[in-house]
Amino acid sequence: MDLTAVRTAWIAALGAVLVGPVLLRLLTAPPAPLWTQLSTTTGLLALSAMVAAAVLPSRVRSLTRAFGIEGVLEVHRSLGVMAGSLVLAHLACVVAADPSDVMLLTPGNATRASVSATAATIAVALLVGLALTRSRTRHLPYELWRWSHIGLAGVVLAGSALHVWFLQQLVADAVLGAVLGVLAVLLLAVLLHRWVLRALLDPAAEFLVREVRAESPTVSTLVLHRPRARHAVDADAPWTFAPGQFAWLRLHRSVAAPEHPFTIASSAQHADEIEFTVRHHAGGFTASVARLRPGRPVWVDGPHGAFTADDAHSLSGLVMIAGGVGVTPMMSMLRTAAHRGDARRFHLVLVVSRREDVLFRAELAELARVLDLQVTEVLRTPGGDAAALVAALGQEALPASLDYFVCGSPTLVGTAFRALDALGVPADHVRTEQFDLV
Ligand SMILES: Cc1cc2nc3c(=O)[nH]c(=O)nc-3n(C[C@H](O)[C@H](O)[C@H](O)COP(=O)(O)OP(=O)(O)OC[C@H]3O[C@@H](n4cnc5c(N)ncnc54)[C@H](O)[C@@H]3O)c2cc1C
Repeated sequence: MDLTAVRTAWIAALGAVLVGPVLLRLLTAPPAPLWTQLSTTTGLLALSAMVAAAVLPSRVRSLTRAFGIEGVLEVHRSLGVMAGSLVLAHLACVVAADPSDVMLLTPGNATRASVSATAATIAVALLVGLALTRSRTRHLPYELWRWSHIGLAGVVLAGSALHVWFLQQLVADAVLGAVLGVLAVLLLAVLLHRWVLRALLDPAAEFLVREVRAESPTVSTLVLHRPRARHAVDADAPWTFAPGQFAWLRLHRSVAAPEHPFTIASSAQHADEIEFTVRHHAGGFTASVARLRPGRPVWVDGPHGAFTADDAHSLSGLVMIAGGVGVTPMMSMLRTAAHRGDARRFHLVLVVSRREDVLFRAELAELARVLDLQVTEVLRTPGGDAAALVAALGQEALPASLDYFVCGSPTLVGTAFRALDALGVPADHVRTEQFDLV
């Protein structure tokens, strides 16, 4: 299936999950007072939004390939906020329909349905609050933030499912009950795939460390290969990726093990040996990556993402803007282009704090012998990089006819986006990847 068809299929499927159950209810339900109708409508919409919000970040490869990880997470956040707002609206409608239902919140009068609903409501409020304030709670270690997010999401989903089950109103309806059953099975299948099959059982996820190469005092390249025997077994399903895609890396086969996203920096033409180039942060996961020994197994969940030269519209050329270690997807695209004999023009703009921070300078010079490649180094300036970027990019004769790839920190990506806008580059010619998911 081509990408447009995959995108259309996903939009149709998510649309069906979001509005299907509520439309079915509105079309088939017997007449009821307005507030009762509204409470069912908001409750069903909240449930659908929760299911869709849970599926989106579940690492479904066709989804991240079709929309990119940034697009997927943006919709996930919007659906989360929508689900939280709908839960509150649902509560208000329930009380408006029958004010005595407030008593269900008091300890002596609580039922199993109201207890599960209260747990889900508190969890959804905490979940949305924690997600919206993440930029201000950066001091929280990422793993703690991540597990709080996942734990609260589990309480929201389980509490909501139990609430619907204990009430027996919707599940007793033959058609709606069947639809909700299908939704529950679909959600369980996606979660099992994400947390059990892919994380613990998938043999294709296991790679062995071939070597760890130092690129600079703070950057190393991790070279991985697939175990030989396993490769023979899976020969009919080779590991493939599109140049520029990324994968999550784990150092232990356990769902509890930390996993971090890194771009596959090597050529897509040699997918059975892959490389990640990693900047070490003091003490964290990246520091452990730099200490890995040859022969040690690691687990790779990927490939993911839509940041790839394979989808570029323009036949004339690609401009790549990379901040620091954001050069990794560009290296994959250029290495792959060299292996494929790609005749398009490439302009790589490297934004660095110091000249000595430029990675792969010698290899880029080699690549420029076989590719139509220009490399421009731009030094970061205290007042921002926009003017320097406009100067570097202004060299292009027809900027609006090229494809642009921007990768690095959120600040660099924002600056480059504004610089490209000032040069008249249409937004749909610009693809971005931020090295920051939360
Ligand atoms: C799509 C994508 C591709 C990336 N590709 C590369 C690459 O090729 N090379 C490279 O050096 N870096 C890359 N990164 C960044 C890299 O994932 C983080 O720098 C790394 O996870 C930080 O780990 P740490 O424990 O060493 O640092 P810490 O000091 O613990 O964390 C530094 C910051 O990294 C972020 N972070 C920490 N853990 C995670 C996690 N599990 N998932 C997401 N973000 C996290 C948080 O914002 C945190 O504030 C990429 C990030 C993304 C989103």
